[in-house]
Amino acid sequence: MVLETDMGIVFWNQEDTGQYSMKSAYKWLQQKKESWQASDSTSVWAKLWKIKAPPKTINVVWHALANCLPTLVQLQSRGVQVPIECPICHEDSETILHNLVTCPFAHRCWLTLKIVSQGLFSDFASWMVGIFKDTSAQQQAKVVTLYWALWRNLNDLVWNQKSSSVNKTVAAAKQYLTQWSIAQGRSSMALLQPGHEGDGDCIWVSPQQNSVKVSTNVAVFVNKGAAGFGLVARNTEGTLQKQSCMPVQYAQ
Ligand SMILES: [Zn+2]
Repeated sequence: MVLETDMGIVFWNQEDTGQYSMKSAYKWLQQKKESWQASDSTSVWAKLWKIKAPPKTINVVWHALANCLPTLVQLQSRGVQVPIECPICHEDSETILHNLVTCPFAHRCWLTLKIVSQGLFSDFASWMVGIFKDTSAQQQAKVVTLYWALWRNLNDLVWNQKSSSVNKTVAAAKQYLTQWSIAQGRSSMALLQPGHEGDGDCIWVSPQQNSVKVSTNVAVFVNKGAAGFGLVARNTEGTLQKQSCMPVQYAQ
């Protein structure tokens, strides 16, 4: 940062001497870049919890942003011996960004939903920052629900050898969001507000007062002898208390 005094003297405040240097300028830029990135990410997290979409779709995005969706690349990085090639397109490694955004199959789903984000992105969080800047609250609900549908597609293919089409995937996402919205009864319902038994499919129901409810999910890759385990703990108000995921390899 360059400062100018009342006497018109200019000095560089990143050095004790006041003299400009490339090294201190680079360091200052890096610090600014990190704070900008943190700020963008923070706004994505804040927006995510306000989206009016099924909680399980928010959970998928939450895990993706936290970089802990049990993709094949994630499993291998934790020591599980699995092939990391995308089982849908066979063109790239199966990372979170690839599964949900850059895989040709995912890309066609986004085009069908008429949601396109410009530019190149190095990771899923960067893509989310871009997409959330350019979309309405309604579109953001569609975005997170399509993420869920894409992730479910992949798991169906890996576990059950069951493939789906682009149109079916987009239709499944829209249908799930519509059904959930109808079940809520009112569009202004706050996200993650506890539901009630019988309100509709897949609604999270709050535990008793002063209790914590733990929701778990297990993904089993039978042919690979591997599995992923995840849990989310919420209190009576629906506030997240703890989340965790863990890859597991078992003997075949
Ligand atoms: Zn792919």
